[in-house]
Amino acid sequence: MRPLTTMNQAYFDHAASTPLDPSAREAVVRALALTGNPSSIHSFGRACKAVIEEAREKVAQLVGVPASAVAFTSGATEANVLAIRGTIEAVLGTCAGRRPRILASTTEHSSVLEEVLRLEKLGVADVSWINVGVDGVIQIRELDSAMDENVVLVAVQWVNNVTGVVQPVARIGELVQKERAKRGPHGLPIVFACDAVQAIRTIDVRPFAVGIDLCILSAHKMYGPKGIGAIIRRSGAVIAPVAIGGGQEDGLRGGTENLLGIAGFGATAEVMTSRRSQDIVLVSALREAFLSELASGAQTAVHPIVSKNTVPDIVFVAGHGFGELSVLALDAVGSAVSSGSACDAGKRKPSHVLQAMGLQDVGGIRVCFGRETNVAQVRELARSMMRLSR
Ligand code: PMP
Repeated sequence: MRPLTTMNQAYFDHAASTPLDPSAREAVVRALALTGNPSSIHSFGRACKAVIEEAREKVAQLVGVPASAVAFTSGATEANVLAIRGTIEAVLGTCAGRRPRILASTTEHSSVLEEVLRLEKLGVADVSWINVGVDGVIQIRELDSAMDENVVLVAVQWVNNVTGVVQPVARIGELVQKERAKRGPHGLPIVFACDAVQAIRTIDVRPFAVGIDLCILSAHKMYGPKGIGAIIRRSGAVIAPVAIGGGQEDGLRGGTENLLGIAGFGATAEVMTSRRSQDIVLVSALREAFLSELASGAQTAVHPIVSKNTVPDIVFVAGHGFGELSVLALDAVGSAVSSGSACDAGKRKPSHVLQAMGLQDVGGIRVCFGRETNVAQVRELARSMMRLSR
């Protein structure tokens, strides 16, 4: 892949967005040449439709599901909202006077948090927020004891976008399946929705194998174009559409499809299927180099938060005084990092993820490596960060 450098800038913000893979770029350019609406039955329309179905097949292969399970959306924000709002709306008619309940972790992405809060405020669902421990991992026992016959949705992400902490999704899937079995055919449905946006780069995401009913992806976090994502839906999970009229994407998402985005998503999914193991080796070596450079510093004001529960490409580094000004200072010396989630950037409030982990008093910088990062760049970044924290 071409080195991603502008004016010798090194890019360490792959959790915010990745550079476009060359094959995704080619697929987008090819799709640009197509005329017609994918819903039209003439040859122009059918040519567009064929591009969409080929991409759907590639995304499905990446996550080991049938192509019919994949519905394209404008990104993960929309897919998360569709999963949550769509699930609640679908069960409202069947609750027979009972109020449906949502269990969600406190460290979810803002698109999940805000939609869950909205439904709670509207009075259409009760919510139990499940805490994480100081390690950022969800308290499974708390989740287990919050489970009852009114819970219709469990929303827990696979990997956190600020800290890179991996959640025990298989264990959560088991609890949901156990509860479903206990209810039998006459009980309320229960769905496990999982945002796998930050997992897909380094984890072999197989949602149906671990009991996930709705799985959410975003192309631009995996070397694809921005503005395209997907919801992967188990066939038994019923959700009401949010955007209606048109009936595209099996009725789940009305609106003419984003052909360019979908073509690029398919191409990057195909590359990810064959390249992920190589990516893991690369980012693990980069993390090793970064951590050893940090450890070689005499002072201890910089604390990378890594554990057996974190993915290899995201390192959250806590340090007093680390924040948006440090991001600008690092940018000025050639390294693009983030002060947490880009979605929280500019809000000037402490990250809800760090608060949930009891880290409200520390600042932090998120570093996320990718395919074009090299060892010299990570060593230089570590030295710059140590200089900043003095
Ligand atoms: N979920 C997670 C975990 C994310 O990191 C992001 C992007 N910050 C999103 C959802 C939203 O993705 P998109 O940009 O595709 O709307």
